[in-house]
Amino acid sequence: MSDKINLLDLSIAELKDFMVSLGEKPFRAQQLLRWIYQFGISDFDSMTNIKKDLRERLNELCEIRAPEVVSEQHSADGTVKWALDAGDGQLVETVLIPEEDRNTLCISTQVGCPVGCAFCRTGFSGFSRNLRLSEIIGQVWRASCSVGFSKNEEHKPISNVVMMGMGEPLLNLKPVLATCEILLSDYAFALSKRRVTISTSGIAPVISRIAGKIDVALALSLHAPDDELRDELVPINRKYKISEVLAAVREYLAKSNANCGKVTIEYVLLDGVNDSIEQAHALCRLLADLPCKINLIPFNPHDGASYRRPSGNRIEKFFRILSDAGFTVVRRTTRGDDIAAACGQLAGQVKNRLSRQNVPSKQI
Ligand code: SAH
Ligand code: SF4
Repeated sequence: MSDKINLLDLSIAELKDFMVSLGEKPFRAQQLLRWIYQFGISDFDSMTNIKKDLRERLNELCEIRAPEVVSEQHSADGTVKWALDAGDGQLVETVLIPEEDRNTLCISTQVGCPVGCAFCRTGFSGFSRNLRLSEIIGQVWRASCSVGFSKNEEHKPISNVVMMGMGEPLLNLKPVLATCEILLSDYAFALSKRRVTISTSGIAPVISRIAGKIDVALALSLHAPDDELRDELVPINRKYKISEVLAAVREYLAKSNANCGKVTIEYVLLDGVNDSIEQAHALCRLLADLPCKINLIPFNPHDGASYRRPSGNRIEKFFRILSDAGFTVVRRTTRGDDIAAACGQLAGQVKNRLSRQNVPSKQI
């Protein structure tokens, strides 16, 4: 393990402070950000607008190192899944979902997940550890090495980033916020705030805490119209009840406009569990005065859960009730399930597999 400072581990503010500590002007940080995140350069000698003695200093003290790619799988529908090496035999998975008008990257924020939702492959694998900033932003950097950093005739760079891979982003807040800042910065990936999404199982106090601090799109994984069922499906609900989470979401919406004033409500449809006509009506009542759009995600099966995906007919009925009530509803199409890259199918490789009961409580 190198004792050099990995610049991918520094937030924008930390990179500026580091430059100042070397006796440089803070704008050197902007130059570095451009080389790293707009041109994909990891070699200081290629950074031609940085004076030679500083390049030598940087070579001595620092490195630019994203996690290495261990495997790359291509789905028949164009989805690509990379497994990246997080050390100690642990893998982090990242998924590229190409569409006509965009290239969406679904990134992970933890190895495994401590929340342990009943239907999620990641949760089933237990929790190993939080990812570092270099391992989170490094996923975007690695994917960009493959699709191109800047737009031209051959390349369609990453246009959207969603934190919907492995892990609960709001339980790893510091690097997640630093990642958002790098994604949004004009000196780095320069993505629009509407094209960066944090998806959360509902860590209410953290949603309140980030309100006004960061302005990116927010998605809430709700999955049930009442606390009794949500306690079972999304165990964090035993700690933060639906009313508390929705109050925090309202606080976030009041202080951010990345979502155009709306939160995305994610709802995984599980056959015979949360997809009845009564539950659709209960969901309409629950969300009646929340500015939102609803994303219905048909359950993606995997070895860890015995739930089933509802029939097309059941999904259609659920969809109709919500849209007839005036909600904007989207049915998420399944992408990449032939390579286990669909929502909730990511497993990575967790070294110390924990049972749900063994998850350290301070994590949740
Ligand atoms: N931990 C965060 C983000 C990662 S999960 C969260 O829960 O929001 C991203 C989305 O995938 C969540 O909405 C989650 O509920 C959904 N998901 C998990 N397992 C799934 C499965 N087997 N089928 C379909 N969606 C699933
Ligand atoms: Fe964690 Fe999200 Fe999976 Fe729940 S759905 S276990 S919060 S990754």
